[in-house]
Amino acid sequence: MSPTTIVKTTCPYCGVGCGISAEIEDAAGHRVRIAGDPEHPANFGRLCSKGAALADTVSLENRLLYPRIGGARADWDSALDLVAERFRAAIAEHGPDSVAFYVSGQLLTEDYYVANKLMKGFIGSANIDTNSRLCMSSAVVGYKRAFGADAVPCNYEDLELADLIVLVGSNAAWCHPVAFQRIRKAKERNPALKIVVVDPRRTASCDIADLHLPIQPGMDGLLFDGLLGHLAATGATDAAYITAYTEGFEAALAQARSAAPDIAATAANCGLAAADVGLLFDWFAATEKTVTVYSQGINQSSSGSDKCNAIINCHLATGRIGRPGMGPFSFTGQPNAMGGREVGGLANMLAAHMDLDNPAHVERVGRFWGSQRVADRQGLKALELFDAVAAGKIKAIWIVATNPVASMPDADRVRQALQACDFVVVSDCIADTDTTRLAHVLLPATGWSEKDGSVTNLERRISRQRALFAPSGEARHDWWIFSQVAQRLGFGEAFAYRSSAEIFREHAALSAFENDAGHGRRDFDLSGLAELSDPAYSDLQPLQWPVSAAGGTARLFGDGRFFTANGKAHFVPVSPRPPRHVPDANYPFTLNTGRLRDQWHTMTRTGLAAKLNTHQVEPCVEIHPDDAARLRLPAGAIAKLTSRWGGMLAKIAISAEQRPGSLFVPMHWTGVNSSHGRMGALVNPVVDPLSGQPESKQTPVAIESW
Ligand code: SF4
Repeated sequence: MSPTTIVKTTCPYCGVGCGISAEIEDAAGHRVRIAGDPEHPANFGRLCSKGAALADTVSLENRLLYPRIGGARADWDSALDLVAERFRAAIAEHGPDSVAFYVSGQLLTEDYYVANKLMKGFIGSANIDTNSRLCMSSAVVGYKRAFGADAVPCNYEDLELADLIVLVGSNAAWCHPVAFQRIRKAKERNPALKIVVVDPRRTASCDIADLHLPIQPGMDGLLFDGLLGHLAATGATDAAYITAYTEGFEAALAQARSAAPDIAATAANCGLAAADVGLLFDWFAATEKTVTVYSQGINQSSSGSDKCNAIINCHLATGRIGRPGMGPFSFTGQPNAMGGREVGGLANMLAAHMDLDNPAHVERVGRFWGSQRVADRQGLKALELFDAVAAGKIKAIWIVATNPVASMPDADRVRQALQACDFVVVSDCIADTDTTRLAHVLLPATGWSEKDGSVTNLERRISRQRALFAPSGEARHDWWIFSQVAQRLGFGEAFAYRSSAEIFREHAALSAFENDAGHGRRDFDLSGLAELSDPAYSDLQPLQWPVSAAGGTARLFGDGRFFTANGKAHFVPVSPRPPRHVPDANYPFTLNTGRLRDQWHTMTRTGLAAKLNTHQVEPCVEIHPDDAARLRLPAGAIAKLTSRWGGMLAKIAISAEQRPGSLFVPMHWTGVNSSHGRMGALVNPVVDPLSGQPESKQTPVAIESW
């Protein structure tokens, strides 16, 4: 590689999926200059603080460079042989459901595809789930129930064309910064653009908001039920659209009216001022070009799926979907959570958006893969999966590119489960994490700057992530590692991959393989990419699926046709529910968790960039001044937080931006980068019954001086 080589790639952090232009200065020394790619349609050259600091994160510090067995360095053959042997033995003795993979939205689509194919297609179990379960699985349920497919209707341009943007449970300013920059610019260009933030906290996203609704934690479904009733009562619904393109409106409206009969009742139950609720409702009713952005504040809830549908109901009722400047728009957290959804990386999905509980889909995928063993029922979702490990039902687990001992709810229990598990394999590019410490076998994977493949961002846009450097040490691509184990399990022919291009072609071909009889079209369709040559794959430019021979698709549903059996969108009646566990005398606060502006996940990469570590240097807990005064908790002192599930220590930060009765703790500190700040230990292991997504935003906790 010449010193002036420029490589176009994609940021490895959030779901915005910004394009990067990387100028390689010294490939051997891992020196690179990072800039935003001015031609990438996700960011047009912009980067946030995290993306801009990527050059500081490509060192070999804390890299896992060699396979390890029982903590000792091993060669690849020995490690792969052992993994295959232990998985084979568990399957032979206890059946295919006695093994599991727990993977990550950090994986590239090609890695994800091969992992899913191995587990669901050849081992014959659907016990592969992903940390994306913690991030956006409720949004998937919402889309599938309403549209018949996990299909995001909008794109970033809609944010710039809107006249009203409602951010619900989304601190986009910190969590999706470049998308937020686009909103901010749009408001500068169009001062009439109104921004509403619905969030218990006053976050940085409120800096450009015309209205902030500090809603009582967990009450968003009720707010949108109230909005649906208001739209109907004020004649703001689109009767012609409802009749032509949807079904179930009357039932959803009746349910909404019973839950939230008027503005006063809605406001009282949401802990909001009636005037503020009325303003939001009036703006929504009067503004054709409205985008509702929702993220973890909606998804991470025991009723997250219903909350998503309560939002979608309001867009269907007004016909505001599929056209420029409008629609319900879920913001996915991770860089390739969407790609994981495409390949079936969730335990309840098959591949190419096909369903495990549809025999025709199982048969079709089996024929395509040349396997008689395809799983035909859903596997264990993340929390169930670790429960099964704890119960001794999972005998061998392979964890890939994620740190569940830090990030899962009830994380102490996850640690105990893995400590007791017969066989734990961890593939990672990082050597020392809470989870790698528990591995019997460690497999070194390539990391960002070495990987080569593709990702899909939160607006369905597929982009290439290209390698800047050769793999470090003996690190290998995740797809290669899975393929090697597959070959040792006897499935060699189906896993004889030589490149990520081959895998991508197969993934695209599966999406186009025999469209559903009578349907005529599939939501996830990459038929236009199924015969991509190696050079064309190498040069692939960002584009949004579905991708036919004619190219990509900017928006979905503009023609009023949905992916349900009769082509109509479904309203879903929503009965709002409070969080499963509510504060009581012993645990009087509601714990909210989330990201900081300058850190990503457990800081394994962002923690290497000195300038990113200055924003916040240690675990903290934000508390409202009134609560701090009442409990005599001084700023800067250390507090002990406890829940029914565990505890942590954090420095007290007093902030009027907190809602009284609520606390906020960032998610980034672990048992490795701090001795006491592992947030996952506190969080209640409660999930949405439909999506399996944990209620990470609402755990009752106590706080006291330490
Ligand atoms: Fe990376 Fe997200 Fe920042 Fe873009 S907005 S540079 S994808 S972290």
